[in-house]
Amino acid sequence: MVENQEKNIQNKIAIVTGGSRGIGSSIVQKLAQNGFEVVLNYNSSYEQAKQIAMTNSNIHIFKADVSKYEEVCNLVNFTINKFGKIDLLVNNAGISLIKTINNTTISDFDNILKTNLYSAFYTCKEVSKYMIHQKSGNIINISSIWGLIGASCEMAYSVSKAGLDSITKSLAKELGPSNIRVNSIAPGIIDTKMNNFLNEEEKKQLISEIPLEKIGTPDDVAECVLFLVKSNYITGQIIQVNGGWNI
Ligand code: NAP
Repeated sequence: MVENQEKNIQNKIAIVTGGSRGIGSSIVQKLAQNGFEVVLNYNSSYEQAKQIAMTNSNIHIFKADVSKYEEVCNLVNFTINKFGKIDLLVNNAGISLIKTINNTTISDFDNILKTNLYSAFYTCKEVSKYMIHQKSGNIINISSIWGLIGASCEMAYSVSKAGLDSITKSLAKELGPSNIRVNSIAPGIIDTKMNNFLNEEEKKQLISEIPLEKIGTPDDVAECVLFLVKSNYITGQIIQVNGGWNI
């Protein structure tokens, strides 16, 4: 049974947005180690992307700013021209913003929504047509605990992640009949550059609120991606990977 599942992953093609660092780079490596050909999308971190690609010949890098529709089209066209199909899309690219509503500018709000939410609209729009044609596919959106419960001083970020979860639920219904599954993974706090602003005292305070008494790792999220890849009957769900933080 396990052998069959492993076999099924061979010759599958994945796009992972924001694969050059943090959670995205763990997802890329986990998928490549499990037989996927992975297109690692990066925007500014070329050196990191190149280093990751050197770890596994299944990893192929492509630069695109996913907040821009034309660049997403280039990313999808590159993948189709190279491999002829897309089996898995992981919408991971994201940025955060910690500001009160009064300090949040119109351009801040635009920037967060374009990078975290419009990007997923663009990728899903472009990728789903191939998946519908194939009558199979898998889309995983990396959202956040804050999309579910809202974060103080992170309204724009929380809105973008709630929107992503909404894409998940709507597209799970719309694309299910075409044998395409769509799920979100909503991490809690994960040890990446995104949380570099936290000092040791703040980290200790957060850990004291988490039942598993630790901050998550990028690999914890990547394991969940692999779990969703191997599953058959899970769609439209928001899977929380947060050590029990919000229970
Ligand atoms: P990170 O270390 O800051 O990495 C962010 C990644 O997103 C980088 O690879 C970056 O690529 C890419 N990216 C940003 N803007 C992009 C753009 N316009 N086009 C293409 N790629 C872009 O962050 P992370 O912690 O790994 O976060 C990954 C995802 O998990 C994000 O969506 C984040 O919201 C979500 N998340 C993180 C946490 C956490 O605690 N860390 C918790 C919940 C959810 P370049 O460097 O190449 O530009």
